Amino acid sequence: MPFIITDPCIETKDSACVDVCPVDCIHPRKDEAEFAQATMLYIHPEECIDCGACVPACPVAAIYESVDATPSHQKDLVEANAIYRLGDADAMAKAEEIVQAHIASHPDIMAVPAAERQAAHARF
Ligand code: SF4
Ligand code: SF4
Repeated sequence: MPFIITDPCIETKDSACVDVCPVDCIHPRKDEAEFAQATMLYIHPEECIDCGACVPACPVAAIYESVDATPSHQKDLVEANAIYRLGDADAMAKAEEIVQAHIASHPDIMAVPAAERQAAHARF
């Protein structure tokens, strides 16, 4: 079961997870053209080997260990992680669309500073 990046990555997007992932399954990387436009990063659900290395590397605890562990109000981002793996322009646009819809529909969560957002997930 893959690890999932959630909304504390938005506004952070520092790529610390990319640097420690042993199978290069987190995208877009800083050296990929899509990085500048992407609002957050995504984990390829089939390439992730569930090693857990990315979790302590993330400065804002944005990464959950499974779909089941991901809070219900973050489940839309499970889909964004999954869609992005297709890697074409349409998939990237659809993932970004999901993220923008998430931001628009969760002003309460997004009002919490990124560094405190994961801890706040339990309140929503
Ligand atoms: S759990 Fe391991 S393989 Fe999966 S995204 Fe994180 S670092 Fe990469
Ligand atoms: S380390 Fe965390 S905040 Fe940084 S890019 Fe990865 S998931 Fe996003």
